[in-house]
Amino acid sequence: MDRFGHFIEGEPRTGSAWRPVFEPASGEVYAEVAEGSESDVLLAVQAAENAFPLWSGLTTSERSRWLEKLADALEQRRDAFAAAESRDTGKPLALARDIEIPRAVANLRFFAHAATQFASESHHGEAGLNYTLRQPLGVVAAISPWNLPLYLFTWKIAPALAAGNTVVAKPSEITPATATMLGELAAEVGLPRSVLNIVHGTGPAVGEPLVLHPAIKAVSFTGSTAVGRRIAGLAGPQLKKVSLELGGKNATLVFANSDWRAHLDTLLRSAFQNAGQICLCGSRLLVQQAIYDEFRDALLERVRDLKAGPLDDPATRLGAMVSQAQFDKVLACIQRARLEGGRVLAGGQPLERPGWYIAPTVIDGLGPEATTNREEIFGPVVTLQSFEDEAHALALANASDYGLAATVWTRDLDRAHRLAARLRAGIVWINTWMTRDLRTPFGGTGSSGLGREGGLEAMRFFTEPKNVCVALR
Ligand code: NAD
Repeated sequence: MDRFGHFIEGEPRTGSAWRPVFEPASGEVYAEVAEGSESDVLLAVQAAENAFPLWSGLTTSERSRWLEKLADALEQRRDAFAAAESRDTGKPLALARDIEIPRAVANLRFFAHAATQFASESHHGEAGLNYTLRQPLGVVAAISPWNLPLYLFTWKIAPALAAGNTVVAKPSEITPATATMLGELAAEVGLPRSVLNIVHGTGPAVGEPLVLHPAIKAVSFTGSTAVGRRIAGLAGPQLKKVSLELGGKNATLVFANSDWRAHLDTLLRSAFQNAGQICLCGSRLLVQQAIYDEFRDALLERVRDLKAGPLDDPATRLGAMVSQAQFDKVLACIQRARLEGGRVLAGGQPLERPGWYIAPTVIDGLGPEATTNREEIFGPVVTLQSFEDEAHALALANASDYGLAATVWTRDLDRAHRLAARLRAGIVWINTWMTRDLRTPFGGTGSSGLGREGGLEAMRFFTEPKNVCVALR
């Protein structure tokens, strides 16, 4: 059985206790992960502190080359990483191989370039000459979730390292495989010792001591809103920088004058990719009244194409829920939707096969006040609501405490820009979904989080600005 250990001081470390790791496609245990504790955190933070002077003292191009090396090595191992990710999460292999692992490579490369391209401001003409130093913070923490494991892990680690920090990272205890492999890769390419440390374990046992450790200068967290709030509460008294990328309840607005038929594939992906376990999935489909029936029927027909099967079969388009807990939660949400008066038009039950599979589920008949339309489900479950006009669509879209992403399908350019400005969301896609330019600010508002990642935002988060004012006579 595989065993996933920590990676501390440049070396794999085993723990004294282990927790089982499940294969979602079968529901069976296939590996064990080290059950980290506060003592592992203390060791890792100390190691990262020791490595900070060396790493922050490198030139930006030296740091950039290290990230490139890691990216090259990961690219060469794409297939092995994709297979591990697929098994660990229950997602189709093609999704891991063609999208997620390449994106992890892209994250490393993007921030390798950011290291050398990052510049700071200078101001003059008013009060002497002012220039801003942007200095690394020290040791930072990265805490990531299970839905896009390596993709989100590298999205945090890469900018933190590029900016000159050393890192203690905690992947989700539910999906520890590729994070462990990344540690092995870092050792293999010779990344300076202790610059990147990886500690496995649960939130309470490892995440909290990490957030609370006084040497940790910033916490970059992606995960649920409840845990984000908890982390903000723990970090607050120490006035620690936090970046919180949290849940979503994203609206997809489909107008009658859009090319929705030609884009049904994208619409379907935006609802059900990764079995709906993506914070950016559009779980509330808002459809203009005039096309509602036609759209609903077309969607229901396409939903039937989302077939489960062997994860390495290219025809497989539906993966599993990541865990028994997530499986139970999603089924409970579907049951709640029924009790609220929702009509289940497709799915609504587990698939008859081993593993934690739930049939893609489409529900209508519920308004914006229903809990089903207010709370994140994070599974293959979408609701349909109809709207009359633009104002109604906007009101429905904004009737959520979350504010991560929204997608607008329309051919009316004026309307698209009007809505983009008025939708309460950190990201608005128009006639597309999940199209990402890594330079853009990424994040949400309201219950979806605090702060932005991506591009300059990430480099700024992971540095401390210091203004230097020089008298000019
Ligand atoms: P989670 O909040 O349960 O866990 C996320 C990470 O935090 C894990 O590593 C976990 O071990 C750790 N953790 C848990 N409790 C902790 C604590 N008290 N202190 C410190 N760390 C703790 O989230 P999850 O179930 O792994 O992921 C699903 C959630 O993530 C969904 O809500 C989803 O919307 C969100 N998400 C958001 C984004 C985004 O970019 N906004 C991206 C992906 C996922």
